[in-house]
Amino acid sequence: MPVLCGLPLAELTQALAPLPRFRAVQIFKWIARGVLSFDLMSDLPLSLREELKGRFTVCSSVVAERHIDNDGTVKLGIDLANSARIEAVLLADAGERRTACLSTQAGCPAGCVFCKTGSLGFMRNLNPAEIVEQFLFLREAAGGSIAGGSIANGSIANIVIMGMGEPLLNLAELRRALAVISDPQGMNFSKRRITLSTCGISEGIIDLADKGPNLCLALSLTTACEEKRKRLMPVTTTQPLARVKEALAYFQCKGGGRITLEAVLLGGINTTSEDAAALAEFARGLDTVVNLIPWNPVQGLVFEGKALKEPSAREVESFTRQLEELGLKVTRRYRKGRGVMGACGQLGQLSPT
Ligand code: SF4
Repeated sequence: MPVLCGLPLAELTQALAPLPRFRAVQIFKWIARGVLSFDLMSDLPLSLREELKGRFTVCSSVVAERHIDNDGTVKLGIDLANSARIEAVLLADAGERRTACLSTQAGCPAGCVFCKTGSLGFMRNLNPAEIVEQFLFLREAAGGSIAGGSIANGSIANIVIMGMGEPLLNLAELRRALAVISDPQGMNFSKRRITLSTCGISEGIIDLADKGPNLCLALSLTTACEEKRKRLMPVTTTQPLARVKEALAYFQCKGGGRITLEAVLLGGINTTSEDAAALAEFARGLDTVVNLIPWNPVQGLVFEGKALKEPSAREVESFTRQLEELGLKVTRRYRKGRGVMGACGQLGQLSPT
């Protein structure tokens, strides 16, 4: 049966025809409150609820596992209708603020060697309902809207599209999901608080610049030494860095804001002075901030026959200093969620039962 959860209001109205638009608005608001059963939509006549149950389903996926780390990170294992399992993570930021990290694909075709998800291969793109549902499940875990309450996003201050998958390879579906999540009549989550991270799909960056939504953009760069990057991130073979940089410049020309260049630091691999110089060269002419992410361990991942390892504290300090001396703005990401394998690069440990 068709799923209603991921439909923007205009599409929901069409799907519910010949019901009047005000019924679609009522159902849209219930979904925005996290009410995922027609039985609980108390301002709909009972006969209509029964009729709708025969024609539609509200929600397509279910939370199968919930893991809570000592640092407050919550990782959900979510079963999709076709039995694939994905993961979504609620990260505890400073104070009461939380960040919801959403997945856009089951598995990932990009195959970055340092990423657990990349080692799984690609299963399929997620549809808008499956993306919106992750947000609703995480919001419930964060103490946001509960059935029957008002629409509130609780302590979720930010959304990052950095979970499983390459979002720009599923942009059309993601766009529809974000239209639902940011609709002022519904969840009303500000687009300015949403960050999308890509491994560098030039056509997708240009499409995003041309057609929106107007989000914050991050590039998972890792290294700007092209030959090394091809070996670490095979996508570089078809997406040369010069073309990616052109796309980023176009994104900023069209009004996109500061771009985050993310570098996962791999011990002994991408923390050399050549890496620092290449990164500075790549950033030249763009408005950027560099975010360093010491690699989060995943057993079994290797690079050219050797097990990957975390960078030492000294290595991270030295690389940070080199980048700063080259004039770059540098931040470091906290290692949240490691205890539940929910940190950056670790998603994909859970498998369907
Ligand atoms: S880092 Fe991102 S793009 Fe690369 S394999 Fe992992 S999920 Fe895919």
